[in-house]
Amino acid sequence: MSELEPIAIVGGGAWGLSTALHLHQSGYTNITVFETADSIPSRYSAAYDLNKIVRAEYEESFYTDLSLQAIEAWKDPLFGPYYHETGYIVATSGSAPAKAKKSLETALASVSKHPVFAPGIQALDSSDGFKKYAWQITGPLKGFTGYHNRLAGYAHSANALKGIFLHCATLGIKFVLGKTAGTVTELVYTGQGASRKCTGIRTADDKVHPATKTILASGAWTASLLPSLGNFVTARSWSVAHVQLTEQECDYLRGIPVINVRDLGFFFEPDPATRLFKLCPLGAGFSNTDAEGTSIPPMVRKPQPQDFIPAEDEIKLRKLLQETFPWMADRPFVDKKLCWFADTSDSEYCIDFVPESNKSVIVLSGDSGHGFKMMPIFGKWVVELLENGEQKVDRWRWKTEDERGKDWGDGVSWRIGKGRELSELIDEARRGSLNARL
Ligand SMILES: Cc1cc2nc3c(=O)[nH]c(=O)nc-3n(C[C@H](O)[C@H](O)[C@H](O)COP(=O)(O)OP(=O)(O)OC[C@H]3O[C@@H](n4cnc5c(N)ncnc54)[C@H](O)[C@@H]3O)c2cc1C
Repeated sequence: MSELEPIAIVGGGAWGLSTALHLHQSGYTNITVFETADSIPSRYSAAYDLNKIVRAEYEESFYTDLSLQAIEAWKDPLFGPYYHETGYIVATSGSAPAKAKKSLETALASVSKHPVFAPGIQALDSSDGFKKYAWQITGPLKGFTGYHNRLAGYAHSANALKGIFLHCATLGIKFVLGKTAGTVTELVYTGQGASRKCTGIRTADDKVHPATKTILASGAWTASLLPSLGNFVTARSWSVAHVQLTEQECDYLRGIPVINVRDLGFFFEPDPATRLFKLCPLGAGFSNTDAEGTSIPPMVRKPQPQDFIPAEDEIKLRKLLQETFPWMADRPFVDKKLCWFADTSDSEYCIDFVPESNKSVIVLSGDSGHGFKMMPIFGKWVVELLENGEQKVDRWRWKTEDERGKDWGDGVSWRIGKGRELSELIDEARRGSLNARL
């Protein structure tokens, strides 16, 4: 493919921006990113958020090695302003289910042996041990075990999206933003059978934008443009909540490591600009499945309220605070929301050419809730795919099996408990607010 030919990237989130950047660095000069939000950071991106964990410990070496490369790249001057290597505590509470305990043990065994991590790993099995790394903890940490990893932290994700967007714009990468001009409604094809090829995209203002390659980086929404992806990628959401701190409270908690309690949830040092303290409960998440068994976030279909978190998640977060910062445990949660990502049964990404498109369409999907940390290096894998003409990494290939409606099992360590449907949660939330009013 000539470097002058038009490339359309659908979605200006973490992976779309990274792809635009790396394509440009590899010499491609005719790149346009289409984004449905009217500014970047896009409020629809899974990374539209104060912070995301950047850690490299996985239960196997493939993603560990990639994440270590990503952490190095976060330290580059372009990405460095958004990266904070505060350290990372991983733990389970005294009442954690066996699965959470087992996955913690596996992770600890793997990092303790790893030559890069080993010097910075400290196993923790008493509350005093934890408090050595986060002296601000005043809660009991009843039955907590875990470890501290020095080589990890978080990135300010919304600021990273904004910074990389502005950088890309100065490089001459084009951006078309907004509900009408920036929303891609359709991939435009010519030909049939073996000669079928995508020649560009149509946007909500009915304009057709020609493209030699169309790259779908539209996160949890991608199956709305590419229905066959919905056979093995499901839109899923997790809850996010915040506590509004005072200036003193915010200063007091500055510098704490990211603390991830695998059966309850995780939190970060507070954001100094907004003084918000962000928390995420952990669990199997919530989907929005239609009659065919495909889950797509409600924005595309009927918009639904998403500015609440389910009662079960609120209970987990209150318990997390009682164990760590009890003075905060009864404070109201603000800016509550459900946040959507693209999940696969085995938690593998899908970075591949779309079948029956003559290699004219590439899909970047299946982030499975662990894709943001890769932002500095992700786009390199897309350039490699484009230049190799095939996906050489088996695990990132397009899946042919229809996995809808099947039991996805519990092979993935974070998928603790049972996933639920958004419609049930909305009914519950409505009943809850009705009961509160009565
Ligand atoms: C609650 C939560 C916590 C997470 N925590 C972590 C973490 O700690 N560490 C980590 O590494 N990862 C984490 N993730 C995952 C991470 O956010 C995602 O992996 C990452 O954002 C995926 O990037 P993406 O570009 O594929 O999708 P997104 O960032 O979601 O971007 C997709 C973009 O496409 C746009 N779009 C969609 N449809 C269209 C259309 N038709 N036309 C134009 N534009 C469109 C959207 O507006 C959006 O901006 C978390 C995710 C969630 C939900």
